[in-house]
Amino acid sequence: MTRADPGTLIEVALPLPLFQTFTYLVDDSLANAVTVGSRVVVPFRQRRQIGVCVRLGAERKPGTRIKKVLDAPDPEPVVADDLVSLCNWIAEYYVAPPGVALRLALPVLLTGADAPRPKPRTRRMLRITGEPPSLIERDAIFGRAKQQRALFEAIEALGGSTSAEHLRDQLGFTPAVIAGLEKRGLVTVEEEVVARDPFLSRAIVPAPPLEPTSAQRSAIEALSAASGAETFLLHGVTGSGKTLVYIELLRAVLGRGKSAIVLVPEIALTPQTVDRFRGAFGDAVAVLHSALSDGERYDAWLALKRSEKRIAVGARSAVFAPVSDLGAIIVDEEHEASYKQGEAPRYHAREVAIMRAHAAGAVVVLGSATPSLESWVNAEAGKYRLLRLPDRVAGGKLPQVEIVNLRRRFSGGNGTGPAPATDYERTISPELDEALHARLALKQQSILLLNRRGYASFIQCDECGYVAVCPNCSITLTHHRTPERLICHYCLHQEDPAANCARCGGTTLRQRGVGTQRVERLLGERFPAAGIARMDVDTTSGKWAHVDILDRVASGEVDILLGTQMIAKGLDFANVTLVGVVDADVGINLPDFRASERCFQLLSQVAGRAGRGPKGGSVIIQTRVPEHHAVVHALTHDYAAFVAAEIEGRREPAYPPFVRLANIVFSAVEESAAMELATSAAEWMSRLLVAGQVEGITQVGPAPCPIERIKNRWRWHLLLKSSQPGSLTRALRFFAERFEPATATAQRRITIDRDPVSLL
Ligand code: ADP
Ligand code: ZN
Repeated sequence: MTRADPGTLIEVALPLPLFQTFTYLVDDSLANAVTVGSRVVVPFRQRRQIGVCVRLGAERKPGTRIKKVLDAPDPEPVVADDLVSLCNWIAEYYVAPPGVALRLALPVLLTGADAPRPKPRTRRMLRITGEPPSLIERDAIFGRAKQQRALFEAIEALGGSTSAEHLRDQLGFTPAVIAGLEKRGLVTVEEEVVARDPFLSRAIVPAPPLEPTSAQRSAIEALSAASGAETFLLHGVTGSGKTLVYIELLRAVLGRGKSAIVLVPEIALTPQTVDRFRGAFGDAVAVLHSALSDGERYDAWLALKRSEKRIAVGARSAVFAPVSDLGAIIVDEEHEASYKQGEAPRYHAREVAIMRAHAAGAVVVLGSATPSLESWVNAEAGKYRLLRLPDRVAGGKLPQVEIVNLRRRFSGGNGTGPAPATDYERTISPELDEALHARLALKQQSILLLNRRGYASFIQCDECGYVAVCPNCSITLTHHRTPERLICHYCLHQEDPAANCARCGGTTLRQRGVGTQRVERLLGERFPAAGIARMDVDTTSGKWAHVDILDRVASGEVDILLGTQMIAKGLDFANVTLVGVVDADVGINLPDFRASERCFQLLSQVAGRAGRGPKGGSVIIQTRVPEHHAVVHALTHDYAAFVAAEIEGRREPAYPPFVRLANIVFSAVEESAAMELATSAAEWMSRLLVAGQVEGITQVGPAPCPIERIKNRWRWHLLLKSSQPGSLTRALRFFAERFEPATATAQRRITIDRDPVSLL
């Protein structure tokens, strides 16, 4: 490793919203303490800032005064070379400040300017010293100190050592008794470093070995034999056993003495998947849970960096896990939108995984039953190697899917049977009701999806049609019960529901568009003896709330699991034989080019929760648009047919995967300021394009965003399209570095979202 010589100039990335790095001098006192990836404390605008050295040997610009590095707290660089390069690429491609990008590779505890090294957590361990005394000796030693004797014997029964915490909290020994025993010299007390890992308290269930099916075997062989730096798309239908393929690849990777990263959309939603990795590899796995405290996260980071753990499992940020000797990165459910970060740097973890693995000569596996169109097209073009698991394992069949057309039901008369009379009937069709009933009678379980939380979606005046909207955002307020509030799902604005219409004073306000809270109540009234659990953002705020709900499903305590999209992923319960979709149309008409794709993915994924065991299963989808291609092809589990129908709509006007996009969003408190900002940016961009400085870019807009206002800010956007990624990078960089708005308005904000997953 090259270290900075005394007198060397270095380039430092500081965590500031500036598109540049800064030059500092390393003097004698810090000779040999600084290299690429080391943290350095530097003076910046009268303050101490902590940054990361990204390059040794910068140029001295004539006439500039260069300040000295004040401190270099790390004996070893905290960010490895390959991660420095990866973060530099992110800064470049996603047009983010380099110092902000580098933060991705550092645990929070290492980012404070005055806390160079976090303290490890320790616990006090009591250990019996020497040979244990005989029973007769004990009488003599302890005499009437009965508590001390009991304590001694408790430690003995625990194998001769245990923590003071356990003796105190679980066995009730007082600190005085513990101190007494120590004084007699019968036990020693030592501080022992413990890793803060909340998963330690969750038992590892060793997985019984499975015999791979022939499809699994060919996938495993192809992956294990890969020569590195290859990207695979594992297209396996739901229940086809993708996890086993991942596990066998990981085994091969560990066998070669290498490490791996497994990305899952959200750890909290996939405890079963995580349990399977821990079951197979035990303590070699570090689970990077979003609910980890900063200390816990640091411990996991350190264990990976020291190669004490070789597999990192986590959500998108785990792609920056500090493993060395990377052998593979697995991206499970690669189509998931949660892989895109919503704030700067707005990276996509799937793309970052491919970059990182490529540089390390490692294999990437993108797994999904419903791959993103981008990945599918790349596989068809031969850029990724396609592996297929076309069938469910062990002769399992994909569930039978049935459609209930709500439109016909509500048009009354000429539909199927009488028009619904009660709220329950308006929400749950006779077909779905009957199916739920049958499952309860058989003691089988059901999953109900409704991708809309709250009680009712909105409240509407019967007379003038007025709907209560958020005063800060241009979306309707959602009605919640317990407590009874109208809540904005964007900014959390809350208000009491009014008795009269705010516009016309009308007295009949009706709830429209049911949400999960409402359906939970309707189901409770309809099936009073059934165990019903609801899983949505409102019921899962606790650290282990998801796991608790899913554990209750696993134990059979829950008969009907109702939830938002949270319940669509990764769940594998053999006794779930019915999946019902209460309203498939939520989101299908959003003004976003991915709306249909997302709807198809959600329906396919949730349908895939049914019939994963020998009892089989079926799916009922309620919809008002049964002819929509997202619904039609979910009905037959036909991914290829969906792609064929969907991709035509992306050609003209062009959208991904035919072009790359960058969405530039302008926001301001004043509506006119947002519009003026967007307009002057669009003019600036036009001039750049006309001047021929950048080629091959089409500009769309400016226009108001589909959601015009969020959190009190008006929003406009400008869309750039290009089939040449390099052109887009150049245009965006020019813009980020040089665009200066004509009118200076306070509180303007510009965000650049490259490869956006949503344009709302
Ligand atoms: P996917 O992720 O493709 O939806 P999973 O990996 O969750 O599927 O596997 C579905 C179920 O099939 C799991 O319960 C798993 O234990 C089981 N399974 C996987 N492979 C095999 C196999 N070769 N033989 C028997 N059961 C298997
Ligand atoms: Zn709001």
